[in-house]
Amino acid sequence: MKAPEVQPRILIAGAGIGGLTTALALKRLGFRDIQVIEQTAVLKEVGAGIQLGPNAVKVLHRLGLADTLAQVAVAPLATKSRNWSNGRTIRNFPLGQACAERYGAPYYHVHRADLHTALLDAYGRADVRLGARVASHEQDARGVRLNLETGEQIEGDVLVGADGVHSVIRGQLLEGHDPGFTGLLAWRGMADAAKASHLGIEKNVNAWWGPHRHFVNYYVSAGKRINWIGIVPAGQWRLESWSARGDKAELLKEFDGWHPIVRGLIEATDEVFKWALYDRDPWPVWTQGRVTLLGDAAHPMVPFMSQGGAQSIEDGCVLALCLAGLPHDPAAALAAYQDLRTERTARVQLGSREAGRMFHQTDPWKKFVRDMKFRWATLTDSQEKWRRVDWLYGYDCEAEVEAKLGKDTRLAA
Ligand SMILES: Cc1cc2nc3c(=O)[nH]c(=O)nc-3n(C[C@H](O)[C@H](O)[C@H](O)COP(=O)(O)OP(=O)(O)OC[C@H]3O[C@@H](n4cnc5c(N)ncnc54)[C@H](O)[C@@H]3O)c2cc1C
Repeated sequence: MKAPEVQPRILIAGAGIGGLTTALALKRLGFRDIQVIEQTAVLKEVGAGIQLGPNAVKVLHRLGLADTLAQVAVAPLATKSRNWSNGRTIRNFPLGQACAERYGAPYYHVHRADLHTALLDAYGRADVRLGARVASHEQDARGVRLNLETGEQIEGDVLVGADGVHSVIRGQLLEGHDPGFTGLLAWRGMADAAKASHLGIEKNVNAWWGPHRHFVNYYVSAGKRINWIGIVPAGQWRLESWSARGDKAELLKEFDGWHPIVRGLIEATDEVFKWALYDRDPWPVWTQGRVTLLGDAAHPMVPFMSQGGAQSIEDGCVLALCLAGLPHDPAAALAAYQDLRTERTARVQLGSREAGRMFHQTDPWKKFVRDMKFRWATLTDSQEKWRRVDWLYGYDCEAEVEAKLGKDTRLAA
């Protein structure tokens, strides 16, 4: 696609996965006046993993990150869901080559720091303004103004609020809609694979389903580390933070009686962390004139479909393509972006909540029916299990925007 003749001044609040993907996609489409504004003074490594479905990996490949990801990521062979105590397999969903062939990109497990570094290096580290906290914004027919906490004002033509679940841009745009606490807490940690080798952990997404809680583990960092997350009822904990430490003894009590792999992995981990989970009901409007939202600012979700980051990557790609297709009319571009994204992200938000209910099922009959349904699908290897996720993993941002705008809006190869 040719560089746009008109160059709107684009402001992006937040240098998380969503903000950086948007900035990189815009840059590759030929936009030159982009400012990414991030509150953090130093971009620190987050010691956690992330699962990236092929729908997100496809975008990252189109943004030129295929080689980098191939070096640091792990492509799991399957998603294996198992009974929490006896380890019996409930569901075995093939990933690996079968997934890459069906959807045109692999399913990946990545250390967040590796993903962040890849995005930052590709976009340009020096082009992210750090230590600048956004306080508010205003807009009129001439443009949009972003007010920093220091009192400095930055002018632009478009503002993208990619500032996470507690977005200040959203707070101003959609007053009175705070995120809701889910009552759940994510314990998380990362073990050296060498320290856990005695557990013989397979190269899968291993999901352990138990009453009121579940546990997920997978390899990252080219197989050198194992990332895990344990979801439990939250008690009094309300803090969201990648760095809030927890007590291993308390965590082991939460998973009392669970399979030796689960307990062994916790024991092999040096530091454990806690994160209270918030989400929102889907909301049909995130755009007002020259201002829009993206990623968790627009549609935060519980991580039970492992898609929050993936949806923010899709958002960034779709938004950049809409702006490239309609550079003379940023408001129309943002409206087209919203039209393309609300229904899909709402489906993922609600599906993620539903997945939690299914994993944590306590009713014996419903649990029996759930397990039988998945075992049958595993045994018959039916196409049905693929068809159920085609809508999620088969999404093609470029084709969607092209169909909506009726013009060639592809990213450069
Ligand atoms: C435990 C857990 C596990 C998860 N697992 C997965 C998974 O496996 N797969 C997946 O796809 N997703 C997963 N997610 C979801 C995923 O992490 C999020 O959806 C994703 O990080 C959202 O990216 P974002 O860029 O929208 O927001 P964020 O990552 O929150 O980034 C927002 C950025 O904005 C900055 N910011 C905030 N306020 C301001 C301000 N006022 N001024 C300037 N800057 C500001 C922040 O510092 C931050 O850098 C998980 C989430 C959790 C909690």
